[in-house]
Amino acid sequence: MAKISIPAANIEYDCTDDTIMRAATRAGLGFPYECNVGECGNCRFELLEGEVTYLRPNPPGVTERDAQRNRYLGCQALPKGDCKIKAPLRDHYKSKHLPQKTQGELIEAFDVTHDIREFRFRLSQPVKFLAGQYGLITAPGVEGARAYSMCNTGESGEQWHFQIRRVPNGAATTSLFDHLKIGDVVGLDGAFGMAYLREDAPRDILLLAGGSGLSPMVSIARAAAANPALAERKIHFIYGGRTARDVCGESFLKELPGFGERIHYYGAISMPDDPSSAGWSGRVGFVHDIAEQMFGENINQYEVYFAGPPLMSQSVMKMLIKGKVPATQMHFDQFY
Ligand SMILES: Cc1cc2nc3c(=O)[nH]c(=O)nc-3n(C[C@H](O)[C@H](O)[C@H](O)COP(=O)(O)OP(=O)(O)OC[C@H]3O[C@@H](n4cnc5c(N)ncnc54)[C@H](O)[C@@H]3O)c2cc1C
Repeated sequence: MAKISIPAANIEYDCTDDTIMRAATRAGLGFPYECNVGECGNCRFELLEGEVTYLRPNPPGVTERDAQRNRYLGCQALPKGDCKIKAPLRDHYKSKHLPQKTQGELIEAFDVTHDIREFRFRLSQPVKFLAGQYGLITAPGVEGARAYSMCNTGESGEQWHFQIRRVPNGAATTSLFDHLKIGDVVGLDGAFGMAYLREDAPRDILLLAGGSGLSPMVSIARAAAANPALAERKIHFIYGGRTARDVCGESFLKELPGFGERIHYYGAISMPDDPSSAGWSGRVGFVHDIAEQMFGENINQYEVYFAGPPLMSQSVMKMLIKGKVPATQMHFDQFY
C-alpha cells in the first residue's frame, strides 16, 4: 500500500493497486480530472517526492513540458511507493457517490442503430451514480479501460446500461460488439464525471448529443423526467447524426411522461445528400447550428448538457460562449 500526501492541503490518503487520481476520488477528495484515459491532461499533478509509473504507457496527454517540470497525469500514474505531490484540489470534483471497482455481467444487448448498441450489465455489488456520469469498462482481451457513459439512472446502482457506438477496428468496441456474450463479465469502475444533472438549477434543460454522445443525454433526460422537483422544467433534446440512419434517441424519450408537452426531441442530419438520407424531412445541419437557430439569444436561459465527438463538443462550446452562456451552465465531459 502506498501513502500519497499533499502537504499544501495537509492531506494523506491510501493508494493500493490504483492510480493517484482515482484513489483520491475514492477517498472523497476533489482531485481534478475529466477523461480518465490519459488524453485530456486535466488531472496533472507535480511529483514532489517518490516515484510513479504509468498504467497506460506514454499517455497522449503528457507533454514535453510536463516531463521537464516533473508533472504526471493522475488518472494514469501508479505510485511505486509513498509519494508527496502538489495537486490543485477543488470541491467541484468531489464525487457524491464514491467510485468503486466492480464487475458487471452482461444480461442484455440490443441494437439502437446500425452502429450503436445498448449493453446492460448487472453489477456484482450495486454502485450508485448520477445521471450523465460515466464508468470505465475493461473489456475482455483489451489493454486499458475505456470510458462509457451510462444511459439509465443510477439511484439503485444495480445495473449500468451503456449505449456504445462501434468504432471501426477499435479495440474495446470490437471486443464488446463482436465477442461479448450474454453472461460474460467485464471489469467496471466508477462512476466518474462532472457532466451530471444539476437538480438544483432553476432553468429549462437543453441536451445536445451527436454520435457516441447519446447515452449520457438519455440518462439526464430520464432522471430529469422522473424527478418531481423538476416537473416544471422543459427538456429539449437535439441529436445529430451524419445520415438519416444515424439518427436515434427519440424512442427513449417517447417513453417518458410529458413527451410532446414538456419534453421535446429534434433529430438532425449533416449529410442530406447521402443516399441513405433519402426521404429525410427533419432538420439539416450540425447540432450547434441547429441549437443556435432554435434558441438564439435565449440560449443563455438554459442549463446546457452536451456530449459527442471532440469536434462536435468544441463547436457547441464555441456557440455557447458566443451565446453568452455562463460556464456554470455548461456541462460536458470531453469524449476521446
Ligand atoms: C468521458 C468519456 C465518455 C465516453 N462515453 C462514451 C459513450 O457513452 N459511448 C461511446 O460510444 N463512446 C464513449 N466514449 C468513447 C470511448 O471511451 C472510446 O474512446 C471509443 O469507444 C473507442 O474505443 P475503442 O477501444 O473501440 O477504440 P480504440 O481506437 O482502440 O481506442 C481509442 C480510445 O481508447 C483509449 N485508449 C487507447 N489505449 C488505451 C490504454 N492502454 N488505456 C486506456 N485507454 C486507452 C484512447 O485514449 C481512446 O479514448 C467516451 C469517452 C470518454 C473520454
